[in-house]
Formats: sequence, C-alpha cells, structure tokens
Amino acid sequence: MVHRILIVDDNETNLLGLKMILRSIPVEIDLASSGFDAVQLAKNNRYSLVLLDIQMPEMDGFETLKNLRQLSLHEATPVILISAVYTEDQYKIKGMQTGAVDFIPKPVNPDIVRAKVQVFIDLEENRTKLRSLIDELNLKNRLLTEEIQKSAQITKELEIARANAEKASDYKSQLLVNMSHEIRTPVNSILGFADLIVNPLVPKKDKEKYLRYVSNSSKNLLFLIDEILDHSKLETGELKISVSPLDICGLCAELFDYFEKIKRQERKENITLHLSVDPTAGNFILNTDSQRLRQILNNLLNNAFKYTESGQIFFGFQKKDTWIEFFVKDTGVGVAPENTTEIFSRFKRAENPNVLIPGTGLGLSISKNLVELLGGKIWVESELGHGSEFRFTVPMIPPEAAISENPQTTVKLPDDHNWYSRTILIAEDEDLNFLFLQESLRITGLNILRASTGRESVDLAKNHPEIELVLMDIRLPDFDGYEATAQIKSMRPELPVIVQTAYALQNKKNNGIHVFVDELVTKPINRMILLQKMAKYLNR
Ligand code: ADP
Repeated sequence: MVHRILIVDDNETNLLGLKMILRSIPVEIDLASSGFDAVQLAKNNRYSLVLLDIQMPEMDGFETLKNLRQLSLHEATPVILISAVYTEDQYKIKGMQTGAVDFIPKPVNPDIVRAKVQVFIDLEENRTKLRSLIDELNLKNRLLTEEIQKSAQITKELEIARANAEKASDYKSQLLVNMSHEIRTPVNSILGFADLIVNPLVPKKDKEKYLRYVSNSSKNLLFLIDEILDHSKLETGELKISVSPLDICGLCAELFDYFEKIKRQERKENITLHLSVDPTAGNFILNTDSQRLRQILNNLLNNAFKYTESGQIFFGFQKKDTWIEFFVKDTGVGVAPENTTEIFSRFKRAENPNVLIPGTGLGLSISKNLVELLGGKIWVESELGHGSEFRFTVPMIPPEAAISENPQTTVKLPDDHNWYSRTILIAEDEDLNFLFLQESLRITGLNILRASTGRESVDLAKNHPEIELVLMDIRLPDFDGYEATAQIKSMRPELPVIVQTAYALQNKKNNGIHVFVDELVTKPINRMILLQKMAKYLNR
C-alpha cells in the first residue's frame, strides 16, 4: 500500500524543501499552505502522517491539529509538529497534549526528518496490517459464531429426532407386548381346536362346534391384524379417505342385522339392540368415506357389546345443522369420569378390576383418528356402572382433505351379475382360495379358466381371446402377479386385471416399478365388493 503524507506550512520554500527531503521515501505527498487548506484536504483524504508547521497566520499549528482531530478520518493520524519558534518544552508538551506524536525543530535536519517519517510510516503500515488482521478475525469470529449457532440448531434437531425415535421404539415395544398377547389368544384357540377337529376320537357334533370356534378365532385374529395395520397407517399418515355418496339409513340397517346375528352367535340374548334413526332424515345420503364410517360404528358397537353384560344398546343418528351426529349408547359397565378422555389415546384402557375383558386399547384411538379424518369430533358421556354414550359427528359437506382422489371408484351396488357363458381367468395357486372364488362367482354363470402359475396365466391370456377379465393373485410360484400383469398388459392392454392383494400391500408398486392394474381387491375377499368391481368391467 502506498502511504500519503500531508505537509502543512505557510512558507512555500519550506514546503518544497520538506518535499525534496522526503523524495527517497516511497510515499505520495500533498502540500497545504495554511491550516484552513490542510483541514479541507484532510476532510476527503486519508493521510498516514501529517507534518505540521506551528507558526502560521490565522490558524496556527495547534488550532489546525485540533480541527484535524475533529475529523473521523484523522482521529488517530500521527502528526509531527515543526517549529523554529516554539522549541521550548512547554510548547512541545502543549503539542503532545493536543494530539501530536513528535516535534521537529527548525531548521530541520533532513536525516532526522526522513528517519522520523520512516518510523511513523512503518508504524502506520503495521497498524494497517493489524487493522486488516482484526477485520479478518472479526469476520472469522462472526462465521464461527454462525457455525456454533448452526451446530446448536442441528444438535437440537438431532435431540428431537432422537426423542422421536425413542418414542417410536417405545411405542413399537409396547405394541409388540400388547399384540403378542392379543394374537396368542386366537392363535392358541385355532391350533387347539384344529387339533381336536382332526382327532378321530372326537365325536362329529363336537367337531362342528369346534369349527365354529376356529372360524370365530380366525375372525378375531383378522380383526386384530386389521386394527394393527390401520393404526400404523394412521401413525404414518398413509391412511387416505375416499368419499362417495352413502345411504346412512341403509348402513345402520345393515349394521343392525349384522350385530343381531353376532348377538345370537355369541349367545348374548340378554342384550336388546335398538336402532334409532332421525325421522326427518328419510333416505339420507351423506358424502363420506363409507368404509371408514362403518369401521367407526363397528368399533363402537363391538365395544358396547363387549362392555355390556346384559341390558340395552341403542345406536343411530340425528341431523344437526350441517352435521350428522351418530351415537352408540349402552347400559354396561361405564367409564369413570377421570378416564373419559384418555381412553381415546392408544393402548389406554380404563382399569376396572371387576371386569377383566380382553382388548388392545387401540379401537377408540383408531376411531378418534378416523372421525377426525372425516372432519368430525368424538366424545363420550358416561357414568361408572350405568353405561356409556359415545357420540361423534360427521360433516354433511366433506372437508377438503376428505375429497376423494379417485371419485370414479365410488362403490355402487351392481344391478346385474348375470355374466352367463362369458369367460374370465383366475390366477391362483392355492386350491382353497380358488375354490372360494369359484363358489363366490357361481351365481354369475361365468366360465372360469384357472392358472396356477404366473407363466400359465400369461399363456392362457394369450391363447384365449374370449377371456374378458383376469383375477390375479400376487404370490404365484414362478413370477409374481405384478410381473404376470405387466406381461398380459403388454400383449392385451385392454384386458382388465383385478389384482387380489393382502391388506398391507395395497399399492401398485413392485420393486419400484409401477405396474398398471385396473383394480385391487384386498384379501380376505369381500364377495360383494369383488362383484361390484368386476361389474365395472363386465357390464360396460
Ligand atoms: P379395547 O376395548 O380393545 O380395550 P378401545 O380403544 O376400544 O380398546 O377402548 C379403550 C377402553 O375404553 C377400553 O379398554 C374400555 O376400558 C373403555 N371402553 C370403550 N368402550 C366402552 C364401553 N362401551 N363401555 C365401557 N368402557 C368402554
């Protein structure tokens, strides 16, 4: 960096003389012939050193120095005073007090002037370096502070992630403990009664009873698995709502028939079931997710039967402004007031030492989540020992989040299942599953071809142009149903393929490859739903 010096003297010869003396030093030099000129120049220029004559007319060196110090550019610029007159110590001291760093008497000794100027220029050089070092340090300090703040933020986020992971792990352990007990009960019963059924010494009439037990336990097990899967789907936000018009009176009537049947099967004759629907509702159609609404009512009715030894169960709905309010009321064991909120949390069961009823503590938590997904609220009013009344609302206009992504998949009751002498292909390797499908479709008059492997299904689809629809199982011995579907679709893209999949595998992905399937039906297969889905293609 080239330094600039300002020399101030009212005598031009002195000015030029000083400039000459300093020519061997690599600096730029400005000259001012009065204190006033010096201050003007100093306002706009940064000087590394000022050589200032004291004895000047109007504004002397001391006054000029004071004015220079007022300028922010020159608060600390080194100033050397020069004088022939003010050489006594008292003037030197006055000069120092005003802010000068040195004093040179006139006539000046050129070597001394050069030496002193060189010292102050070196000092200024070092000061400049120091200043840039400090700037650099400040910058680094700021960056470091930012880094520290960032890493503190990351640590905080990691802490949260760790807490969440621990919570998830605790939840998984709790789920495992709860579920392994709940799963063991029906599995033990299935295994035990299955053993008795194959035992030749057990009388036939007992075997029929045991078959019923096996069937009931299987249903319980399936219910439990659905519950666990629904719960984990709700946890991960995967459970989506699909809205379609629903006749709620019809749904309630269906549930009434179903629970009447269950009541008889479970020998709960001392419970009376009542259905009460809003008389103003007529044939009321609600836009909602029918499957989920059914699931909520089913859970509440199941609980009502579970927690009522004998008495009455009422259920139904009322129309309220823009809501439909459903209720399930029983005269059973009831819930203590301190438990009416927490029973809606997962795994929370109201302790009641007098009533030991098995359960997972998941049903109400699932119901609450589902009600909220449908845009409503759920609550309970209850008195211990006097029964409970569960109520929940569903908006008549579905919330935006609940608008169906795929409205055309709305389930409509099929008008016609007569597909006499038309042909479909079923790819299914399990004999029992195939028999079930064959039985379920018997009334339709369909001609059914069977493939037991993926390859066979592709060959049959190729060689039998009369096949109008394929029911494809996923797990086949050679290659899976998605692969087979992909091959069939590449030959006959128009041929509809309905894939039968386990509940947990409801997406259309296979190892990251998207395979186009027309429909999915979940196992265990509901015959009505299967017929409705088939009708969509066979009746078009
Ligand atoms: P589970 O019935 O499997 O324990 P739920 O989540 O369905 O799980 O219910 C949570 C708890 O709420 C139950 O354990 C029971 O204590 C209480 N509860 C639910 N429904 C009723 C009811 N109708 N009457 C009395 N208590 C009930």
